[in-house]
Amino acid sequence: MKGFDFEEERIKQEITKLGAKRVLLQLPEGLKPEGPRLAKIIEKSGALPIISADPCYGACDIAVNEAESLGVDLIVHFGHSKLVKHEQVPTIYVEARATVPVDEAIEQSLPLLSSYTKIGLATSVQHLQTLNQAREILIRAGKTVIIGDSGQMSYPGQVSGCNYSNVKSIADEEEAFLFVGGGLFHALGIALSTSKPTFVADPYDKRAFPINDEAQKILKKRWACIEEAEAAKIFGVFVGLKPGQKRLDQALNVKALAEKHGKAAYLLAAREITPETLLEFPSIDAYVNTACPRISLDASGKFSKPVLTINEFMVASGESSWENMLREGLFES
Ligand code: SF4
Repeated sequence: MKGFDFEEERIKQEITKLGAKRVLLQLPEGLKPEGPRLAKIIEKSGALPIISADPCYGACDIAVNEAESLGVDLIVHFGHSKLVKHEQVPTIYVEARATVPVDEAIEQSLPLLSSYTKIGLATSVQHLQTLNQAREILIRAGKTVIIGDSGQMSYPGQVSGCNYSNVKSIADEEEAFLFVGGGLFHALGIALSTSKPTFVADPYDKRAFPINDEAQKILKKRWACIEEAEAAKIFGVFVGLKPGQKRLDQALNVKALAEKHGKAAYLLAAREITPETLLEFPSIDAYVNTACPRISLDASGKFSKPVLTINEFMVASGESSWENMLREGLFES
């Protein structure tokens, strides 16, 4: 697959250095087709490669338990930076940096940014190496550029699907945000976390566009879900089973708050939260998702009952207000 750096030489060196004999490869969906080619390289290095065929959406889903059960002595996790600390199985992260140039997309964003001077710049891990170039183009166009660093992410300016702490840390200083990267997913997260005008510079399509109308559509749906959940008598509280999604303390807190407000609440442990999962519990009126918040936000139309994030549950239960949640952002971090 062209367009990404899979760091094959580093992988071979790590296998030799660690003397690894059995290696588990974990790739996100878009990169899985590279699995057999990478497995071949590992085989030639003298180790047995096993490709994880399970879905992998983020670094939260590091396959430690699977590696242990397969007797694996090295995990190679592609496409994400380190998120979960663990010591059970040595793990290397291959971030699969994109090689696509970004200058044309950044230039395309300049007319859209004409009414703003202070611009916050952010990107996903795939395009971090382009941030300096993007900053220079914006500065040449007369902009003041800030790249946030909350200390929570692996790199300044980095956002992930559920962590927008870098942009939140500078939101008060910025007039608008520019996200460098493809698609709507991360840029929507920025708009929903900061309530600031947010634009995408998409290097794949070589174009730039605003995202706030899409964010408003999501907010309308979230408001409807919260209203429906206010009338719920019985809540299901999901606890994620993926290593970076397991937040039992927060689930217990949600359960206690629901009970304080006279509701019944049951803990439900799950690796995946799907529309089918909900169909098995017809007596439950609404759900709180303490696992991956993007399941609530991006797939809400597919669920037959409201599936709230923790912050949304705070609004539905009366512990917080809609305005307060918008100020703090829909994501906890
Ligand atoms: S919790 Fe969801 S958004 Fe966050 S890293 Fe995992 S899959 Fe991505």
